[in-house]
Parts: sequence; structure tokens; C-alpha cells
Amino acid sequence: MTDRDSEAARIARARLPEGLRPETLAVRTALAPSQHGENSEALFLTSAYVQPDAETSARRFAQMEDFTYSRTGNPTVRSFEARLAAMEGAGAAVATSTGMSAILLLAMGLLKAGDHLVCSRSVFGSTVNLFAKEFGKFGVETSFVSQTALAEWRAALRPTTRLLFAETPTNPLTDVCDIRALADLAHGAGALLTVDNTFCSPALQRPLALGADVVVHAGTKYLDGQGRVMAGALCASDKLVREVFSPVVRTAGMTLSPFNAWVVLKGLETLSLRMKAQSEATLTVARWLEAHPAVARVYYPGLASHPQHALAMAQQSGLGGAVLSFDARGDTPEAARAAAFRVIDSTRVLSIATNLGDTKSIITHPATTSHGRLTEAQRQATGIGQGLIRLAVGLEHVDDITDDLQRGLGAL
Ligand SMILES: *Cc1c(COP(=O)(O)O)cnc(C)c1O
Repeated sequence: MTDRDSEAARIARARLPEGLRPETLAVRTALAPSQHGENSEALFLTSAYVQPDAETSARRFAQMEDFTYSRTGNPTVRSFEARLAAMEGAGAAVATSTGMSAILLLAMGLLKAGDHLVCSRSVFGSTVNLFAKEFGKFGVETSFVSQTALAEWRAALRPTTRLLFAETPTNPLTDVCDIRALADLAHGAGALLTVDNTFCSPALQRPLALGADVVVHAGTKYLDGQGRVMAGALCASDKLVREVFSPVVRTAGMTLSPFNAWVVLKGLETLSLRMKAQSEATLTVARWLEAHPAVARVYYPGLASHPQHALAMAQQSGLGGAVLSFDARGDTPEAARAAAFRVIDSTRVLSIATNLGDTKSIITHPATTSHGRLTEAQRQATGIGQGLIRLAVGLEHVDDITDDLQRGLGAL
């Protein structure tokens, strides 16, 4: 019996009826409670597990069966993995310490020297650096292509291509790519498709059902949902998790702490409610911004004006997610930047920070923060101008958010 088989037997889900909806799985899926019968899942803060005798200990270490040491398995972490896998419709999940360590695990598990990767140019900045710089060092080559031009992805394929990596919608301009089309392209080339599903979460988008092979999460964002802890995960088939990813975590140790796993586990229970409420509020703010004379352009997949609106609605359960960006008007880059700073500095409710997925709405100037290390030419190529403002909408009353934006926009 493997580690995971024995745990599967303990997963309370085994006692649940078949066919439960995702919202129910988000609340109910976990390992079975302890002998105390706690209704809220317990937090197991322990690094080691006492073994009944030396013989059992030897067997458990040899077969990775049951719990031995928390780098290789912890009940709270396993409950989080089981719940997230159920919500993504995945065979299994493996938790990691951050979103970036999930992507590190992906690359360590699937790639070796001489392999080639095709990646959208618009993915999270650290993801670009991890592939291009860190894995470039080890002889893995990455081709960066347009998020939305399928022909560029196809043209980049080589006999050594092992992986296609996409993130949708992108940050901060919310470009949407067609997951099913990329999955077909990957499989035709004998490669796997990974989708970073951080922005939509399984409450809106389930990439595996659209043909993707691996889903990446920065649990730091919506899975936690209240801006408290760092966390990450990969979701995939049971075989990929058991044979490829779990052994790497055991060896390399990008393990999620039990405390952070517990926080994110509880976060999953309210994910669907939060994503719906935050998406609805974001659409209201996007429409309000689109009608504002001081705003040049709004980027939000929920708007009919978004270039991939129809695709986004089909792929994301009819919702746009909770991140939008907009351009403050300005005739020159300097004027646009001054306008953007004026808007940001006039807010009194929104947090000036660089994060998203929190209950507190966050306002960001990408050109001088998340994308500040790009050259002006690179920034122009990606469309991230000096007037661009990103807003990650939280759970305040939507009128208080638009009132706050009006304090700055009204003064321009
Ligand atoms: C934040 C983020 C990451 C990285 O997650 P960390 O937990 O900060 O390491 C990866 N992808 C996306 C889309 C993100 O927003």
C-alpha cells in the first residue's frame, strides 16, 4: 500500500455520497476527524509521528506509508491537498510553501537539461525569471510567446518541447487564452499543458476539465482569501502527483507548513462565495470606470469591450474575476504617471500594496512596482504604461470603492 492509498482510505470524502457539488466538497473534503470528533479540521503542528514499533517504522519509511515526518506528509496538509484536488476535479494535489515553489516543483519534476518549454510572455514576472534565468542555467530553454496568438505557440514547438505554460487571465492586463486550444496543441506535440489558475481559482475556472494536465496555484491569493499566509499547490492526475511531484517535495523540501495549510484549508470553505461577490463588485467598478471621463481604458474580462470577453465568459463560469486595470488619461508618460499617482494617493480606503486576493481592496501602480524592473521599451511592448493602475477588488461595499476612486479621479 502506498502512502496515498492509506490516506485515501482516511479521507472523509470516502464516506460522503457521490456527486456532491464543488461548494459542498469545499466544505466537507478532508481526512477523517481524530478520535475527538472535531467538526472543524484539526491543526497538526508536529514535525514527527511516533511509530508503534521498529518493524512498523521500517515498513512505513520503506513504503512511504502513513505519516512519519512532516516534510513527507502531515494530516492538515493532506486535508488541504484532498480538498483542493476535489475542487479542481484533479486526481490529487501536492501543497507547497508558496506559489513560486509550486512552479519550481513543476519544473524540477518535469524538465531536464535539453528540454524546451513554451510559455506566455505575460505570465507572473517571477515565473518568467524562474524559467528563463534559473532553469536556463541548467540547460532548459524557454520560448516566450504572445498570450493570445495560438499560431505563435504552434510555431514555437520543437521536438524537445515538454511543457506549455499559460496563466489566464494575465496580470495586470487580463488577457485571456484558450485553455482547450492550448491543451490540444500540447498533446499533439507530446507535451503537457500547465495552467496557473491563481486569478480565477477553481470557483470560476477548472483547467483540467478543459484538457490541461497540471494546475498551479498561488494559495497566497484567493485560496487563503484574507491576505494572511503564503501557500502554493500543484493539481494533476494521481499518477503525476504520486510518481513525479511528491518524490521531489520529499527530497527538495518545498513543503507547506501545517499552520499555513490549515489557514488555506479554511479559506477554501468560503472561496466560492468570495469569488462570486468580488467578481460582481469588480464588474460594477469596471463599468463605473469605463464611464468616467478621466479614464482612457479599462481592462476587465467581464466587460463586453474586452477582446476575449466571450471566451472568458465561457471559460470562467460567466464571471470576470476580481482584478481589473485601467489607464488614467495623460498626454505624455509623465502626465499619465502623475495622474495615476494622484488617484492612488487620494484613496483613503484602498490599500496601496502589491498583492491580490485579499478581502481588502488593493491598488497598485504596476509600472513602478511589479513591473518596475522592466525597461521602458519592454513595458511598452507588454502594454503596461505609466498611467496604468491595477485594482484587486475585495469585500468592502462597492460604493465605498468607487467613492474612493472618485476622490482621485474627480480631481484630475
Ligand atoms: C502571486 C502569484 C504567483 C506566486 O505566488 P507566491 O505565493 O507569491 O509565490 C504565481 N502566479 C500568479 C498568477 C500569482 O499571482
